[in-house]
Amino acid sequence: MSSSKHHDHKRCVTSALENAAAICSSRGLRLTPLRRQILELVWHSHRPLGAYSLMEMLAEHSGRKLVAPPTVYRTLDFLVEHGLIHRVHTLNAFVGCSHPAGPHSDVLFICRECQTASEVHSPQVYKAIHICAAEQQFKVVQQMLEVVGICAGCAARKP
Ligand SMILES: [Zn+2]
Ligand SMILES: [Zn+2]
Ligand SMILES: [Zn+2]
Repeated sequence: MSSSKHHDHKRCVTSALENAAAICSSRGLRLTPLRRQILELVWHSHRPLGAYSLMEMLAEHSGRKLVAPPTVYRTLDFLVEHGLIHRVHTLNAFVGCSHPAGPHSDVLFICRECQTASEVHSPQVYKAIHICAAEQQFKVVQQMLEVVGICAGCAARKP
C-alpha cells in the first residue's frame, strides 16, 4: 500500500513523474520545468504539504531565484486541474495523486498520527454520493471525501 512508510518511495516519485509526462504529452499540455519540480516536491512524501512549505522547499532545493507566490499557486492549480495532485481541504495542503490516469478516487484517508494520505477508489462511495446529490438536485463537479483517522501502520505501533 502506498501509505506504508516502509517502501521504496523513489519508485513512487519516478512513476509519478513518468505518469505526469505521459499524461501531459497525451493531452497536449506542457510539463514545464517548474511544474515538474513542484510536482516532485509535492511527491516528497505521502504527507500532504502546504503551499508555504512547498515554497520554502523550492527555494532551498532548487537554488532557483525566489519564485513569486502567485506563480507557485498557478502551478499548483494546473497540477490540481489535471489530476496530478489533489488539494486536501482538511489540511489546506496538497498531495500527489497515485493513479492520475486510473479511475477517480473517491475517498482520501488521512492519518492524524503520521499525516499520510492515501486514496481509495470505492464504487460504493461514488454511487452513494451521486444518489445523494441527485436527491438534492446537486450537480457534482468534483468529489473526494476526506476521512481523518489512524492508519493500519500507526494502529499496529500502538500498544
Ligand atoms: Zn511512496
Ligand atoms: Zn488521485
Ligand atoms: Zn499513520
